[in-house]
Amino acid sequence: MCKQLFLALLSLVVSSCTVIDYSHIARPPIPKDLWEYHYVEQGRVYQVCSQYGMFPEACMEWGKGDEKCHIWLPLEAPKWMIDHEEAHCMGYNHLGEQHE
Ligand SMILES: [Zn+2]
Repeated sequence: MCKQLFLALLSLVVSSCTVIDYSHIARPPIPKDLWEYHYVEQGRVYQVCSQYGMFPEACMEWGKGDEKCHIWLPLEAPKWMIDHEEAHCMGYNHLGEQHE
């Protein structure tokens, strides 16, 4: 019973970290022609992205000395993952994450 509760809480935390909050824009969107896609090995994604979160399957970077929105994705990135990182370039944050 305890274990079930733990698993329920765990999945809540994980999903809240990965769901985009489309109800408001957290920062100005970056124009699409400034999006740069980096399709790299998962190990490289982890190197770049681990500073941003606990589950760095992919991430985006901006404000790194250029105007671009850098999207870091593994070679076999599924569509939902690409959509997710693109949403960050459009200025959206995760649900419950108002800062940045
Ligand atoms: Zn995200």
